[in-house]
Amino acid sequence: MSNIYEKLGVRTVINAVGPATRLSGGVMRPEVADAMRQASQHCVDMAELQAAASAVIARLTGAEAGYVTSGAAAGLLIGTAACVTGLDPLAMNRLPDTTGRPDEVLIPRSHRNFYDHAIRTTGVKLIEVGIADRFSGAGVRDTEAWEIAAAIGPRTAAVCYVAYGHSLPPLEQVVQVAHTANVPVIVDAAGQLPPAANLRHFIDSGADLVAFSGGKAIGGPQSSGILCGRRDLVSAAALQHLDQDILPELWRPPAALIDRERLPGAPQHGIGRPCKVGKEEIVGLLTALELFAAEDPEARRERWQALMTNLVEACRNLPHAHAQLVRDRKRPEIPVVHLDVDEEAAGMTALELVAQLQDGTPCIHANPSDVRDGRVIFGPLCLQPHEPEQIGRRLHQVLGQQA
Ligand SMILES: *Cc1c(COP(=O)(O)O)cnc(C)c1O
Repeated sequence: MSNIYEKLGVRTVINAVGPATRLSGGVMRPEVADAMRQASQHCVDMAELQAAASAVIARLTGAEAGYVTSGAAAGLLIGTAACVTGLDPLAMNRLPDTTGRPDEVLIPRSHRNFYDHAIRTTGVKLIEVGIADRFSGAGVRDTEAWEIAAAIGPRTAAVCYVAYGHSLPPLEQVVQVAHTANVPVIVDAAGQLPPAANLRHFIDSGADLVAFSGGKAIGGPQSSGILCGRRDLVSAAALQHLDQDILPELWRPPAALIDRERLPGAPQHGIGRPCKVGKEEIVGLLTALELFAAEDPEARRERWQALMTNLVEACRNLPHAHAQLVRDRKRPEIPVVHLDVDEEAAGMTALELVAQLQDGTPCIHANPSDVRDGRVIFGPLCLQPHEPEQIGRRLHQVLGQQA
């Protein structure tokens, strides 16, 4: 069957990595694609649409307010900007010049990653706290909450916390020391869904702002995300993201999103303007979010488990490799397949196997993060029902050739 990518001469790939941006995320549910098409057929006031989105996001996350961003990274950017400027339109206009405002964001050293470009884009300085010697094998400890408390000062705009199963110190402790000093906590929870309970968990734990990806497990448009949290901060983020090319006399921001009474005037285009979202993304994200929140978690897990079981089945009698369905203790909601390669017998390393899958036809992308241990990982999030069998066939081809 021909598809739009064939016309462009672009290969489609079998994506067993998961919703990675470089692999275009996943395959959208028809309801989401249809909602985006419908959204594309009318014009709306974008602030009004974001105010409606805020109500939906607030209902599903328990946060005071929410906002649709062009991704979790964009959420971190405008969320940080909000923590720096508050509701001061002059400070908003000045960014990334942070003159006169708190301009440091604290982060446990082990949470540093290259998505934090988004935070630094606002002009703040990231201050790393503590040393995580548990990762070097030289020790067992990570940054502790009292170290964050000690690092907080008059220049501290926020504490950034990157949420993973293994993140330390515990979020609740970080929130406690930050709030004692009246400093907000921004949580990067980009990939922390499922479990769907995490939609509320970080807010319940006291986070002031939480950023989620819309294009990962939620199944929304690839360039969408959610920022949710405190009303004043979401409002400050919105003010630095919405298009502000409007005469003050004609500016009528929706009160639910922006309280005009608290502002001396309207800011101009803000630092978030380069990461704009379209109405199609907003409507698509909201549709996907409702579907994600409504799906029975057990049914979702079983859907993924069936794909992975089919893959294990398709890998039966594979020479020099053993496939096993694994339910990771830290991410039990997402079953995956571990393919352990007997590298010596196979005459190829796990990394070479990943490369061959990627370079062959069909083009198959597998997760290489454990190749140093001779293991290739396959995940279910972006797989279509017929693809496990195709992967199995290709694995038999590649590993069989070597035998
Ligand atoms: C994926 C990811 C991001 C970026 O999310 P986008 O929605 O693609 O912007 C940020 N932080 C972490 C930890 C991620 O895993």
